[in-house]
Amino acid sequence: MAAIHERAEYGIGDFVLLQELSLSAFMDNLKLRFEKGRIYTYIGEVVVSVNPYRPMDIYSPSYVQDYKDREIFERPPHIFALADNAHKTMKRQARDTCIVISGESGSGKTEASKIIMRYIAAVTNVGGQREVERVKDVLIKSNNILEAFGNAKTNRNDNSSRFGKYMDINFDFKGDPVGGHINNYLLEKSRVVHQQEGERNFHSFYQLLSGAPENMLNDMNLSRDPKLYKFINQGGDHKVASLNDKQDFRGVMDAMKATGFSLDEISTAWQVVAAVIHLGNIEFVGEDQAAVSDQGLSAVIGKMLQVSREDLEKSLCSRVIAAGGNVVDKHLNVPESIYAAQAFAKAMYERLFSWVVGKINDAIDPKHAGYVGKNTVIGVLDIYGFEIFDNNSFEQFCINYCNEKLQQLFIELVLKQEQEEYMKEGIEWQHIDYFNNKIICDLVELPHKGVFAILDEACLNVGKVTDEVFLDAMSQKLNKHDRFTSRTNNPADKTLEHHRDFRIKHYAGDVTYSAIGFIDKNKDTLFMDFKRLLFNSANPVIRSMWPDGAKSVTETTKRPVTAGTAFKISMIALVENLASKTPFYVRCIKPNEVKSPVLFDDTRVQHQVMYLGLLENVRVRRAGFAFRMPYDRFLKRYKLICNETWPNYRGQVIDGVKVIINKQGFSSDVKYGKSKIFIRSPQTLFSLEQAREEKM
Ligand code: ADP
Ligand code: MG
Repeated sequence: MAAIHERAEYGIGDFVLLQELSLSAFMDNLKLRFEKGRIYTYIGEVVVSVNPYRPMDIYSPSYVQDYKDREIFERPPHIFALADNAHKTMKRQARDTCIVISGESGSGKTEASKIIMRYIAAVTNVGGQREVERVKDVLIKSNNILEAFGNAKTNRNDNSSRFGKYMDINFDFKGDPVGGHINNYLLEKSRVVHQQEGERNFHSFYQLLSGAPENMLNDMNLSRDPKLYKFINQGGDHKVASLNDKQDFRGVMDAMKATGFSLDEISTAWQVVAAVIHLGNIEFVGEDQAAVSDQGLSAVIGKMLQVSREDLEKSLCSRVIAAGGNVVDKHLNVPESIYAAQAFAKAMYERLFSWVVGKINDAIDPKHAGYVGKNTVIGVLDIYGFEIFDNNSFEQFCINYCNEKLQQLFIELVLKQEQEEYMKEGIEWQHIDYFNNKIICDLVELPHKGVFAILDEACLNVGKVTDEVFLDAMSQKLNKHDRFTSRTNNPADKTLEHHRDFRIKHYAGDVTYSAIGFIDKNKDTLFMDFKRLLFNSANPVIRSMWPDGAKSVTETTKRPVTAGTAFKISMIALVENLASKTPFYVRCIKPNEVKSPVLFDDTRVQHQVMYLGLLENVRVRRAGFAFRMPYDRFLKRYKLICNETWPNYRGQVIDGVKVIINKQGFSSDVKYGKSKIFIRSPQTLFSLEQAREEKM
């Protein structure tokens, strides 16, 4: 009933209330609201959010007060209402809740998660406990750190998160935050060594070069100019208008200090960043046996990592292997050394990122607050959206699989919740059909038959382990699957330009993947030499990032779990975790590709509306009962439209409600539950609202 608090010129605040439900009606309303600066619209309790691409004056303290402790439909649609609802549900019912934010890159997910966190911080701890204040401070400041190390400028978003994040916030019985925990998922580490035209490496690299004091850079043998360094200059222009690297460096430093990173830890983090920058410029010479061409450079990297130059060069140019009980050195040639250096850089940065997340987790561990009782949590999920690029690789495959899983959860939970509510209220429920994308999840994740399993098997091949072998195996095993296509099993399909391409029909659209690199990225091999090298660093902070370097050569024959399987396992665990909580959804939409605050690109938006299943969502809401309201609230709201109930009704509340409904002639359109009235069609609600307005 959000609509009633807003004038008609702003469109309808809840899609469930659309006069007639069609794609065009949905689009018209969304567009109208966007143009009127109304970026939030409900589908029942789901918030649809359109990125405004401009600062909005709707998050100030007075707005916080407007939404605090209100029911979701009492005020115009706002993400604050959803945050409040999640918090209230958690507090009142002592139930874990979660907020799942989805949408494509640049649609506003990360901003939404920050707005939610700031709202929760603003409405809690009225008692002003110091520890709670500290936790809130760290929770909010941790974003600066995570974004510095995990975000990058991409062609879609100047501040794109290149990792998935799930954050639990723990609350005490009063509903105040006492801690939290972050899970991070699949950092896009290929970016460390390669960026596409127009993109940048992670922000941290540029922040270091622009923000670090002169003496710090001198110690690191670094110049301020990113153009001099191969790993960070491939995208072209490194200046981003919407970012201030120099200022952000200071922000990150402050945040790290506030979070409890020691000075040693902070300088080590930047040393690792510096080591990666230098590693990009290292070159190799030699025929069969590679050697580092500039020993001055390897000495600098050694200094950053606190390992000897000799040991570093040895790890880059050779490999220790266990062969029949003997340990032997195998020399690498130049291409192998280049490959090794890149793998090393990627792994170092990935470890650094995970270590940073671990440090933040230490700082917000609820144990600090002396909090050992039962935890109630709100989980906030901000994870990469569906991606279709010109060239889609292993990373996009994982990301899109993740979105399939979340979509499936959305469908199941939205329906499940509806069914549960009807059952609880003793209302008869009829089943609703919906598209279940389980078939696509299965295609990817099933043991033996799924793409990840086939990929793992191909990686295990002795002898020929190539991307072609993987593609052939897929083409054979998935031959009959109507969501899979490859050139091998469909030679006539000219849309698959390259022989190494395959296509998957995702719920959100067709994506053509290039199989090139799948094997390599899945195996994710990092020679043990590097792990041992850094485990033996003189810097204890670096050592702590590489605990697995302790193993001896002969110990490490066991195959580590592959990247794809590890991701699959983490996604299954994530979905299980989310399914155990009461969910709230934010569905983010990107209005255009050019970051414009005034452009509403109908085609692009319509595509998102379709694949997010928003129409289905409205249909599910409407096919059951579009509205439900506790009896007392209903009576209070509508008693003025009926002589028998105005100004006061003296009987039982439910009887008062029945009098109103019968008088209006709607008795066939409603059902009476245990505590609520259920109204089937939105029209009934319109009429009630109209009658009410006429009386006012
Ligand atoms: P995503 O995480 O979905 O990739 P972001 O949350 O990073 O997208 O949003 C991209 C950009 O859009 C932000 O950097 C910001 O400039 C703008 N933006 C997103 N949401 C809002 C909002 N609610 N108000 C103002 N600007 C926003
Ligand atoms: Mg993001």
